[in-house]
Amino acid sequence: MSRKPSSSLFAALALGASIGLLLPALIVGGLFIGLREAQVAEQALQRDLDAKLDVLASSLPELLWNLDAVAAREVVSAIVKSPEVVRVSVSDASQGLPFIENHMPERRRGKTLTGERDILRGATRIGHIQIEIDDHLSTTAVMRQRWLYGATVGGQLLASLALVLWLLNSRLFRPLRELGDFANDLGEGRFSAKLAHTRQDEIGLLGGHLEHMRDALQQQFEAQRHLIDRLRGMAETVPGVVYQLRLAVNGEFSFAYVSEAVREYFLLGSAELSRSAAPWFERIHPDDRALVRDSLLASARNLSPWQQEFRTPLADGGERWLYGNAIAQREADGSVLWHGFLTDISRQRRDALELERYRHHLEELVEARTAALAEATQAAQAASLAKSAFLANMSHEIRTPMNAIIGLTYLAQSDTIEPEQQLRLQKVANAAEHLLSVINNVLDFPKIEAGKLSLERREFTVDQVLDNIANMTTQAAAAKRLRVETDIAPELRGRPLIGDPQRISEVLLNFAGNAVKFTERGFVRLQVRLEPARQEGTGLGLRFEVIDSGIGIAPEAQSRLFRDFEQADSSTTRRYGGTGLGLAICRRLAELMGGQVGVESTLGGGSCFWFALDVEAPAQPPVAPVPAPRLHSARERLADLVQRQPCRILLAEDNPVNQEVAVALIGSAGLVVDVAADGQQAVDMVKTGHYALVLMDVQMPVMDGLDATRAIRALPEGAQLPILAMTANAFDEERQRCLDAGMDDHVAKPVVAEQLFATLHDWLSGARKTLKGRPATP
Ligand code: ADP
Repeated sequence: MSRKPSSSLFAALALGASIGLLLPALIVGGLFIGLREAQVAEQALQRDLDAKLDVLASSLPELLWNLDAVAAREVVSAIVKSPEVVRVSVSDASQGLPFIENHMPERRRGKTLTGERDILRGATRIGHIQIEIDDHLSTTAVMRQRWLYGATVGGQLLASLALVLWLLNSRLFRPLRELGDFANDLGEGRFSAKLAHTRQDEIGLLGGHLEHMRDALQQQFEAQRHLIDRLRGMAETVPGVVYQLRLAVNGEFSFAYVSEAVREYFLLGSAELSRSAAPWFERIHPDDRALVRDSLLASARNLSPWQQEFRTPLADGGERWLYGNAIAQREADGSVLWHGFLTDISRQRRDALELERYRHHLEELVEARTAALAEATQAAQAASLAKSAFLANMSHEIRTPMNAIIGLTYLAQSDTIEPEQQLRLQKVANAAEHLLSVINNVLDFPKIEAGKLSLERREFTVDQVLDNIANMTTQAAAAKRLRVETDIAPELRGRPLIGDPQRISEVLLNFAGNAVKFTERGFVRLQVRLEPARQEGTGLGLRFEVIDSGIGIAPEAQSRLFRDFEQADSSTTRRYGGTGLGLAICRRLAELMGGQVGVESTLGGGSCFWFALDVEAPAQPPVAPVPAPRLHSARERLADLVQRQPCRILLAEDNPVNQEVAVALIGSAGLVVDVAADGQQAVDMVKTGHYALVLMDVQMPVMDGLDATRAIRALPEGAQLPILAMTANAFDEERQRCLDAGMDDHVAKPVVAEQLFATLHDWLSGARKTLKGRPATP
């Protein structure tokens, strides 16, 4: 809206102002003129008086001289004709009485002006004239003039005033009043109001701005109303009660706003709550009322958020759980205002309770199950312990008679020269050895399976391991006319390594046993090669191979071989026997040592079973390089040694059969053996200082082998004495117990003669040495 600025209002004001200035000028002029007029009138009167005196003074001297009274009277009456003359007195100088006296007192109305003159004849005063004239006629004229002037000027003034007022009213005050009304309408929100006149002046311009303002206000107002409607709609439709709760400085609660839902939740109207919140508190469950009030007061003190769960009773006797949540803020008047909402949480409460019940139930269930499980675990542990004890017992019980069978067979074989007897005894020996390997496998397997097998770390050489295997297979191989060859990589010969030679031997012995078993003609070769370590930083990689020229294995069977209880084909079982456990045990042992086993074979073309593992290699260079391969049996080597350096050993053994076997076995190699029937006797006999070595059974009456060993280690004679356990308890724990008690080595019963001879040879020759009563193993 654009309006042309106009100067007409300015002109109106200018006109008004100039009239306002002109008026006083007129008034002042009028007054001035009025006053001057009076003066001028007075002067005219004086001049008139003087003129009359002059006329009389010039015409009377002759008449008075001649005493012509009549003429004189005519002259005087001519003067008296003037209406303002009140009195004319002509007196004779001599008589002093008036000569002519004309007095008209009725003409006296105002102020009288008196003029006197001497009547002169020549230089002689002959009389005196006195004229009095009244000024009222001239004053009246002046007054009339004044009135006329006043009326004219006053009329003008009034007209000017009326004009100015009319102008001001029409051009200024009325439009301003209109604007005022318009502004008032806007103030009261009547946006439909319009200005009655459109004008081109400044007021019109102002009106235009006001109209513009009206439009803008209306828009804002509309937008706000829209927003408020939306907010109110939201507050009224969200589930729960939306509110503004106020705590006044006098401690009174009231709702500044509360949505309609309050009616449903509390059966209260929002209007009554706006005065006081007391009815609302009344509707809260009596047990929770104080809680709600206190939590609100606490929130007001700290201006912290208010969060509270509470109940309201329902008409049907039940209760509704509500959750109140609000933000507190302090208002300018010191009151606290909460903005928040209340929601029905009855269902959540019910669910939570239900959940809690379930949880509780679950806990009970878990407890019961845990208890049952604990019981079961205990039972299982007890069963496992019983099983272990049973296995240990069974092992012991089988090995003890086996010791007698194998030992006595060996002795009988050595004693007889009759070929048929020899053959039969050999069959007994084979059967016994087979039985022993079966027992070993059957008893070992559960232990490996349960992860109960522990590994040893001790120094060894591959020469010792392969010699040992060769020794132990030689006999069986010889019976089948098979060649047993060993092939050791030169860089490994005599090189000290660290590992578990016993377990390595077990694997290789198994391979070698199978090789002999499944080969009818040709050879069995034991070889070892150096390989890069399989894991970085672990030392050396060894690859053992047991190669035979036997029946071979079909490719499809090869993959199954190392699985538990698998054999190449079921007919093997019928032809060669076996449990199918051997290779499975080999695989598990190899894995236990971080190694791997495998087979390469062709049907009818022989087999190569390999075993690869990492062993530690001590830093020092090999000391004894390339010992000559041993050509003789262990017994021959032992006998050789004893011949050069005779020695006596002590056998602590309570079982008479075992005594007989051991004494005969050891004696067959040329050693002198003394027997102690229990641990105590053994200790006493060691004190004599005759013995180079003690073979110690563990289970003995009076004092067992472990205590006896500790007692011997305490003796000066016993500190360096090799003490070897010889026990039917072949399990690892037992072996460890022996070593812990101070023994140096362990020979399992049933005693395999070659093994015993080899062990005795090692200890007696000083190849192995005891370390001051501590086990020789690292
Ligand atoms: P077992 O106690 O029955 O010999 P193993 O696990 O030692 O059990 O051997 C499993 C099977 O693998 C044997 O029954 C045989 O069929 C086959 N086998 C093992 N070694 C050889 C071999 N050197 N030559 C041919 N077959 C072999």
